Amino acid sequence: MPARDAPPLQLILDRVYARLRDEVDRGKVADYIPELKHVDPQRLGLSIQMVDGQSFHAGDADTPFSIQSVSKVFTLTLALGKVGDALWRRVGREPSGSAFNSIVQLEYEHGIPRNPLINAGAIVVADVILAGHAPREAIGEIVRFVRFLADDDTITIDPEVARSETATGFRNHALANYMRAFGNLHHDVDKVLGVYFHHCALSLSCRQLARAGAFLANRGRLVGGANSVVSEERARRINALMLTCGHYDGSGDFAFRVGLPGKSGVGGGILAIAPGIASIAVWSPGLNANGNSQLGSRALEMIAREADWSIFSG
Ligand code: GLN
Repeated sequence: MPARDAPPLQLILDRVYARLRDEVDRGKVADYIPELKHVDPQRLGLSIQMVDGQSFHAGDADTPFSIQSVSKVFTLTLALGKVGDALWRRVGREPSGSAFNSIVQLEYEHGIPRNPLINAGAIVVADVILAGHAPREAIGEIVRFVRFLADDDTITIDPEVARSETATGFRNHALANYMRAFGNLHHDVDKVLGVYFHHCALSLSCRQLARAGAFLANRGRLVGGANSVVSEERARRINALMLTCGHYDGSGDFAFRVGLPGKSGVGGGILAIAPGIASIAVWSPGLNANGNSQLGSRALEMIAREADWSIFSG
């Protein structure tokens, strides 16, 4: 729980926003997905969703952005709901220590991706969600799930981002074809990637993202309702994967600095979980060398420290 003398959360967010708003060193906006490079690097949004229902916001918390790989947390949750532990026959649970789109590791490991939060792993997860569906039905199921989690029917996919990545996602095509060669994709590569690119193009604001992720802070239950999304054990395990794998080869550093399970995306968003307390969404489009939001990581470091939320605090 927060230390008794921790400042009020709105004050913490306002202070973090004021300190980072004019920062010059903001990292570099992703440009390998052409549609993403138009995003204004000056944007900074911060939201906290408490498990008791309160929420706090600062800056551009209501501007939707491309959540990209943060969506892998939601597709992983859906796939586990469909096939349970059988998923782990096709995807590992170890940190990769490599870039999010690394190809070399797949060869060593015979087409079994290291974990579900790197691109290759999330493509297998998309293949699982596709089973028994046409791609548009699978995409619809993912959108409905995220709307349900966020209690917000206005959430949509940005079709321009999906199209842009479909046209330029050569590495993801390579990863998918390679896994297909090992028999670890069961559907047509284009269909699987269609699902993957579309869920990466989900557009959410920090407010919506913090709300959508709150079940992971609330022992698997929706905030403000009795509905269970997943069991307590599953929520705990998803959090464990976020802590160890959610920032690719920057996961160790994120745990060191922030001390919370987190998942980043190349759109500059990060979802972090303070188990039993809150979920936090931050967005700043400039990325560091590992492809994680530079100011977003700093914002979370400041929030976790000031609120005393690191899971490693005694
Ligand atoms: N859609 C992006 C890709 O496949 C997701 C990567 C990310 O957010 N790290 O490259």
